[in-house]
Amino acid sequence: MNHPNITELPSGIKWFKETEALWPGQAMSLQVTEVLHHEKSQFQDVLVFQSSNHGNVLVLDGVIQATERDECAYQEMIAHLPLNSHPNPKKVLVIGGGDGGVLREIVKHESVEEVTLVEIDEVVIKVSKKYLPSMAVGFQHPKVTVHVGDGFAYLRDNVGAYDVIITDSSDPVGPAESLFQESFFQLMRKSLREGGIVCTQGECQWLHLSIIKDVISNAKKMYPVVTYGWSSVPTYPSGQIGYVLCSTNSETNFRKPLRNLEEMKYYNTEVHAAAFALPQFTKKALGL
Ligand code: SAM
Repeated sequence: MNHPNITELPSGIKWFKETEALWPGQAMSLQVTEVLHHEKSQFQDVLVFQSSNHGNVLVLDGVIQATERDECAYQEMIAHLPLNSHPNPKKVLVIGGGDGGVLREIVKHESVEEVTLVEIDEVVIKVSKKYLPSMAVGFQHPKVTVHVGDGFAYLRDNVGAYDVIITDSSDPVGPAESLFQESFFQLMRKSLREGGIVCTQGECQWLHLSIIKDVISNAKKMYPVVTYGWSSVPTYPSGQIGYVLCSTNSETNFRKPLRNLEEMKYYNTEVHAAAFALPQFTKKALGL
């Protein structure tokens, strides 16, 4: 099974190499022990492979989305940074998140009564259920409802009433491009209940400050509280990823988690608070 990002050395050892125009001049490589699935869906190239040291790996259009070894750092943070900043989250919406890992985290909150996930590509859900069971377990929870469709269109056509909206999207190229635009943040704003909170996949402060700056400045037009946090995720570009957090409640302090949460691998209240300690170049660029 050939894939443009996988090369086989004369020794027979195979390497997956992630190169992407959004992070020029650098690449992440993972050793491949077996290619498990490769399919061109209606939206993207979907690849799953077994790696030598990172468990199974989900790749979309050549970009690493999740590895079994370090997905906890991303799924726990994108879920608990917003949920643990809201006093009583009951209704949650996830845009993207087709691997199911964020769902697994959201249902750990007793207060949550229902979670809706809108994923554009059912192939991602299918391959995650088959090859990434520790993440896809999130789909099994009775509080979860899954819609297959475009998140932008879903929010445009279904003004909801959510306490927390999490946009667990791929990068702003391809199907996720619309999810980084001001109009999408306006749609999310309309679908939040009083005190509602938004958390979106916020790219990397070492690579994408101009993208993050646009998202933050647009969000500041419609939310009283907007900030940026980040976490270490070794297999993401530059070893980390960010989160844009917005609250409709001017009293929200994202640096102060509201509850102690158990059963975590990465998240705790100290890591929550520390996520918002930003390097000087980021604070300056984002006006935070
Ligand atoms: N952790 C990853 C990251 O930080 O890039 C995100 C993982 S998750 C697999 C990303 C999901 O967003 C994919 O399953 C993709 O199909 C989905 N997606 C992209 N654009 C979308 C859209 N417009 N509506 C709904 N889902 C979308």
